[in-house]
Amino acid sequence: MYFRKTTNKDLLSVLSIYKKAISYMREHKNTEQWNDFEALRNNVISDILKGISHVLIDEDEIKSVFTLMDGEEPSYSSIDGKWIDESPYLTIHRLAVAEHEKGYASLCFAYGMLQGNHIRIDTHGMNHPMRRLIQKMGFMECGVITLSDGTKRIAYEKKVSFSDRLISWYELNGRDLPWRKDHDFYHVYLSETMLQQTRVESVKKYYQTFVSTLPTLKDLAKADEDVYLKLWQGLGYYSRVKNLAKGAKYIVSEYGDSHPETKEELLQVPGIGAYTANAILSICLDKPYVAVDGNLLRVFSRLTCHEKDIGSASSRKECEEYFLRLMDGKPSQFNQALMDLGELVCSPHGEIHCDACPLNQYCLSFRKGVAYQYPRKKAPGKKKEIGLTVFLIRYQDSYLIRKRGKSGLLSSLYEFFNVDGHMSEEDALRYLSSQGFVVSGITGLPDSRHVFTHLIWNMKGYEVVLDQMPSGHDSVMATKKEIMEVYSIPSAFHLFLKKIQEE
Ligand code: SF4
Repeated sequence: MYFRKTTNKDLLSVLSIYKKAISYMREHKNTEQWNDFEALRNNVISDILKGISHVLIDEDEIKSVFTLMDGEEPSYSSIDGKWIDESPYLTIHRLAVAEHEKGYASLCFAYGMLQGNHIRIDTHGMNHPMRRLIQKMGFMECGVITLSDGTKRIAYEKKVSFSDRLISWYELNGRDLPWRKDHDFYHVYLSETMLQQTRVESVKKYYQTFVSTLPTLKDLAKADEDVYLKLWQGLGYYSRVKNLAKGAKYIVSEYGDSHPETKEELLQVPGIGAYTANAILSICLDKPYVAVDGNLLRVFSRLTCHEKDIGSASSRKECEEYFLRLMDGKPSQFNQALMDLGELVCSPHGEIHCDACPLNQYCLSFRKGVAYQYPRKKAPGKKKEIGLTVFLIRYQDSYLIRKRGKSGLLSSLYEFFNVDGHMSEEDALRYLSSQGFVVSGITGLPDSRHVFTHLIWNMKGYEVVLDQMPSGHDSVMATKKEIMEVYSIPSAFHLFLKKIQEE
């Protein structure tokens, strides 16, 4: 005898049980009544997918249903005088399959129905052993069920918290992500840093390459800057990896083989702010903190019809306090469940899947039918646009690249030779000559554009072939292979990188 949450595997059983049960009932019973089974089946499936149903399987139950199926119609008539279908006490639907050795029922599927914030189940008479199990699981008696043959059954209910619903959903539907294989400090620290401003799908590949090249925090702490910048190439927001490397050095020097374990200690680590500290504390150390990211903010704003700008510091604080109040144990799962729910169900773009959401009964915007109106956002300010002329300078099989300054936008990364403003071909030739380049050919490249958080680059490009090896420039002549494998060139220059790849 056991009682457990339903899993996706149960779906197959449910489908098969219902199929057989419906045909059995149609053959032997009142067709009209059992037509409702189809609707019931759909509800059961939907609840399994939401992770809010439970399965109760027990030998006695099987025998009992088996008997009912063999004789009486297993129909409930009333509970406390009300029709079951209308009653809040409706608890378990029992269905049997005609596959037992005698050709009758072999399996009983008992389905605990979640209504409001409660799971309700019923069981046999006062002395049935199931009662003890159910009570042990925290269920309380909530009514008496009278079957059509006059038999009494006891109904039980258990309060299901916001947290229970959310975590049950997560256990079934949570994403299988490479950094969730364990709750290792370095893995959580690295993945949460990568996930800031970047979507999960993009991070997966980078995470795996990063961890296989630099498998431990110590490896990262002693890695050369060009190595980790190259591993980050294309992920953008390079300050994240520079801070991560600084943080790794600090932790290794201060903690050796260990790592910080409190919020105060984590905030001392260079580059670790409130979000990363809370993510590490909750996901890795299972401490009651809320890591407020864009997903949580969106879910919060829809659950509460939050009218303020979701990007404001006060909204962030309210969101953190709101979820902290609802967190009922299991901080690690709670946080990850909210992140997944925000991505998979309470989606940022396209359809919002409120019908499949385990929190829909708590959700104000869903009840009001206005989920699409949230979150509220302040209109973004206009970004500054600047023009650049970028030169893809080639001498034989090498290209000219140079390292950007140690601070500011894209600091310490490599770039192609460029100047502010848009130049005509004639001006470009004059300029290159003034810089000491001996040009044998110049060809225009298509215009390109790159959008940063607060800035847009509009780039005019030229491919330039030199007659002589350039000298006197603070630059590197790199082959195609070196450019692809050694030097990290930001994706702002992707058009020029693509050109090299094609050559
Ligand atoms: Fe989001 Fe809809 Fe769930 Fe509300 S019910 S939290 S809007 S998915």
